[in-house]
Amino acid sequence: MPQPRVIAVGDGIAYEGPAGGRGSDGVLWKPWGLKPHQGEPLWAKVHGPRQRRAMRKHLCQVCGGPADRDEHGWLWLLEDQREEAGPKWPDGWLTAHPPVCQPCAPIAARHCPHLRRTGAVPVRVRDVVLDAAYGQRYYRGPLRPTAGERDVFLMTRWHRPWVVANQLAATLSGCTILDPAEVRIETPAPRTAGRR
Ligand SMILES: [Zn+2]
Repeated sequence: MPQPRVIAVGDGIAYEGPAGGRGSDGVLWKPWGLKPHQGEPLWAKVHGPRQRRAMRKHLCQVCGGPADRDEHGWLWLLEDQREEAGPKWPDGWLTAHPPVCQPCAPIAARHCPHLRRTGAVPVRVRDVVLDAAYGQRYYRGPLRPTAGERDVFLMTRWHRPWVVANQLAATLSGCTILDPAEVRIETPAPRTAGRR
C-alpha cells in the first residue's frame, strides 16, 4: 500500500491532506491495506490493526482467542532482558507483543523471531497500561521531516507529535516470572556467540 507523505505541521508531523491522519487518541497511525485475517501470518511483519486489537482486548498473539489469565495476571512471553535491564525487569518494561493463551505459548516461543533470539521468558502481568507505540520517530528537517529510528516510544506529549506509529505498546507492571516448564516452553539454550 502506498504510504502518504509525512509533512511538518506546527510542532510535529502529519500526513499530507486535510485530515492529517491522527486518530482520536492523537496518535499518527500508519495506514494498513490488508484486512485482518487476510494473507499468511508473518511473524516478522506484524499486521498493525490486528496487533492493536490484540493489545486492547488481551487477545493471544498467535490464535486471536482470549489470552490466559489467572489471579497473578495475563500470560506474556517476553524476550529475556534480565542481563540488560537489571533485577526489576520486567516491571516497568515496554512491549509491543500481545499476550498469549496457554496452548499457543510453546508455538509463540518457537516461531516468534524476537523470542527465538533470546529465549522466551513466561511472565504473569497484573497491570497493563497501553501508553506506548512501536513506530518510527521523525525529526525536524530543512525541507521535510526526516525519518529516524524505529523503536517503542512512550506516547508522552514530547514523542506523540513526532512518531508514525504502527503497533500499540504497553507498560507492564505487577509482573511475576514463571518457570518455563509451567507453560510447557523449552528452557532457552545458553547463549553462544555466533548462534541465533
Ligand atoms: Zn492462542
